[in-house]
Amino acid sequence: MNNFEFKNPTKIIFGKDTIKKIESEIPANAKVLMLYGGGSIKKNGIYEQVTKALSNFNVIEFGGIPANPEYDILMKALKVIKDEKISYLLAVGGGSVIDGTKFLSAAAVYEGDTPWDILTKNVRTQKGMPFGTVLTLPATGSEMNSGAVITRAETKEKLAMGGPGLFPEFSVLDPQVITSIPERQLVNGITDAFTHVLEQYMTYPIEASLQDRFAESIMQTLIEVAPKVIKDPTDYKPAADFMWSCTMALNGLIQKGVPGDWAVHMMGHELTALFGIDHARTLAIVAPSHYKYNFEAKKEKLAQYGERVWNITEGSVDDKAYAAIEKTEAFFQELGIDTKLSDYTKEYEGTAEEIAKRFTHRGWKLGERQALMPEDAEKIVKMAY
Ligand code: NAP
Ligand code: FE
Repeated sequence: MNNFEFKNPTKIIFGKDTIKKIESEIPANAKVLMLYGGGSIKKNGIYEQVTKALSNFNVIEFGGIPANPEYDILMKALKVIKDEKISYLLAVGGGSVIDGTKFLSAAAVYEGDTPWDILTKNVRTQKGMPFGTVLTLPATGSEMNSGAVITRAETKEKLAMGGPGLFPEFSVLDPQVITSIPERQLVNGITDAFTHVLEQYMTYPIEASLQDRFAESIMQTLIEVAPKVIKDPTDYKPAADFMWSCTMALNGLIQKGVPGDWAVHMMGHELTALFGIDHARTLAIVAPSHYKYNFEAKKEKLAQYGERVWNITEGSVDDKAYAAIEKTEAFFQELGIDTKLSDYTKEYEGTAEEIAKRFTHRGWKLGERQALMPEDAEKIVKMAY
C-alpha cells in the first residue's frame, strides 16, 4: 500500500426529510447565492423545501446551470457574486450544479488574470468561498469530494479542476429526491458511479486488500440495486443504497493508498466536449476498449474483479479477465446504455486522432503509471468506434 493522508471535511446529512436541516448549517449572517439547474427542482418540490429552510436568510437565486456546467454561464453567476457581495454558495442539483458551484467557489477568490486559468493552469484552490450542497441526483460523488469538471462550448473543451479548499462544508442526501429522476439520468448515475470505482480499482499491481473489498462491495451494491431503482424509484431502501454507494464511490476513501487510473474519464470528457454525449455514456463507450487494450497489465486485477464481483469461477486468469470485461459491457447495455461511439454519432471518423492531438498539445500521459501516450489513447478510442 502506498503512503497516504486522508482528510474529508464534508459533513453528510443523510436521510428522509433532511433538506430542512440546511438552516442550521449556513452561518446566520451569510448572504447566500442559491444555484440550480434547468428547473427540475421547481417541478419536484425540492425548490419549496430549500426556500422554506432559507426563509430567515438573505438569498439571491441563480438558475439555469446546464448539464455539463458551461463556463460562460458561470461567469454570469460570478458577476452576481461580486456585485451582490455574496458570502456563501448553496448548490441545489446534480454533479453539474455542484461542479459549477465549486468553480465559482474557486473563481470568487482567484486573483489571476482570468478564471479560465484555474482550468488550464492546474490552479489548486487552497481555500474557496464556503459552500454547501443539496444533492438531487446520485451519480458523481461531487457532493463529498473536491473536484469539478467545467465545459467551454466556445472551444469544445471540458477540463477538470480541484483543490483541498473545494470540499462542500455540508451535503444533504435525501434519497427521496430520486423519485422524480428520469430513467435516462438514473442509469447514467449508476454507470458513472460504477466507473468511478473501476477507475480506482482496476489498477496494477494488486496493492491493498481493504480498498479492493470496499470497491468490490460498492460495485456489488450498485449491480444489486440497479434494477430496483429503475423499476420503482419510490422504494426507499434501494434508493438509499444507491445514493450512498454513489457518494462512497468517489469521496476519496477507496482511492487512498492505491494508484488511480482515470484514463476512461479523460478520454470520455473529450467525447462530451466534441459531441455533447452524456458524461456516463462516454465512460460506457471507452471503458471496455480501455480494459481490452491494457489487458496484459491489468488482467490479474480483471480476473479478481470477475471472480469477486461477477462470480466468474471457470477458466484461466485470461478467461476470467476477458469474461469480466464482457460482463461489464453487458451490464451497461442492460441498463439501456449503448457502448459504441457510432451508436451516438455518424461523424466519428477522425475523433481518435483529434483526441490524441489534444492530449499531445496538453502534454498528457494517462493511466496509473502515466504509461499511456496520446497514440495509445488514439488506438483505444478507435477500438470504441
Ligand atoms: P447533471 O448534469 O447534474 O443533471 C442531469 C439532468 O438531471 C439535468 O437535466 C437535471 O435537470 C436532471 N435532474 C437532476 N436532479 C433531478 C431530479 N431530482 N429530478 C429530475 N431531474 C433531475 O447530472 P450528473 O450526472 O449528476 O452530473 C454530470 C456532470 O458531473 C458532468 O459534467 C460530469 O463531467 C461531472 N462529474 C463530476 C464529478 C466530480 O467528482 N466532481 C465526477 C463525475 C462526473 P435540471 O438541470 O433541470 O435540474
Ligand atoms: Fe464521472
